[in-house]
Amino acid sequence: MKDIAPLTVANGEFYPGQSGVVELVAGQLPSGSAVSIVAHVFRSFKPGPTILFLAGVHGDEINGVEILRRSLRQKVYNKLTAGTVVVVPLLNVYGFDNFSRDVPDGKDVNRSFPGSVSGSLASRIASGLSRNLLAHCDLAVDFHTGGRGVFNYPQIRYTPDDEVALLAAQQFAPPVLLAARAPIKSLRRSARKALNLSVLTYEGGENLRYDGQSITEGLAGIKRLLAARGMLEPVSDPFARVPHEVTHSAWVRASRAGLFQWTKRSGYPVRKGEPIGTIFDPHGVKPNKRILCPRNGFIIGHNNGAVVGQGDALFHIGYRGDPTPG
Ligand SMILES: [Zn+2]
Repeated sequence: MKDIAPLTVANGEFYPGQSGVVELVAGQLPSGSAVSIVAHVFRSFKPGPTILFLAGVHGDEINGVEILRRSLRQKVYNKLTAGTVVVVPLLNVYGFDNFSRDVPDGKDVNRSFPGSVSGSLASRIASGLSRNLLAHCDLAVDFHTGGRGVFNYPQIRYTPDDEVALLAAQQFAPPVLLAARAPIKSLRRSARKALNLSVLTYEGGENLRYDGQSITEGLAGIKRLLAARGMLEPVSDPFARVPHEVTHSAWVRASRAGLFQWTKRSGYPVRKGEPIGTIFDPHGVKPNKRILCPRNGFIIGHNNGAVVGQGDALFHIGYRGDPTPG
């Protein structure tokens, strides 16, 4: 009987075949305005898994918001053949309004999980999401971009020992898969621990900018994942490919401050010793500092900033780690 029972999300009840939008209040701003989370719920007549697509946890990471907006406008989920999809296109509306990663109290929602109903605003939003949405889900995909000035090549990050996540990531089939532990108190780490829920982190492009490839890949990945799970009719997929899988990653950092120009960017394989960028003295006095790639690998992220400080992250190199001997 479980399959015909209503799914209760915040103040909405959804029977098989029903869809709609719910709004759940997660906190309050000092001005008195309510902080609410808007969620679209799509439920097929046929039983199946419940998948959450979430974007805008960081309010300045726009590509994910655009991916989910397009998926809603294209009515992708109106054609569900099984299961339930929940879509939250923009979690952190206040960060979005202020071009900020964080919520107005300066805290990062993605370092505030599982959250608390009596905690800070970030903690309350995390708690509202965990209790009202994550608890119902069998899988979640959380859409992000690189931070300020940092471009991430379209990729999915999954927790290394999570087989459910690995299979889902392969079904989503972005250009790159990266096995990487999630930060402490992040959505991905906390959901697995507290709810045994596998979460994929999609990364594509940089903050506050559209990136066409990241948006196209994200949208295609959603359709592939749902089709692979029997939740959508399969469609022809001209961009289908086997993802480039990497098991480790490391940043190449600036040994010197100055003006930075990359000569090789994300999405390309690199060899150890290959020149990939240069740091220049803005006064034109000191010699140029060539940046040589320290290992063989694949560039999965790079810094688009023209001015860099010492130690700034310049290139994110993904690679396959050596298998552990015997
Ligand atoms: Zn983010």
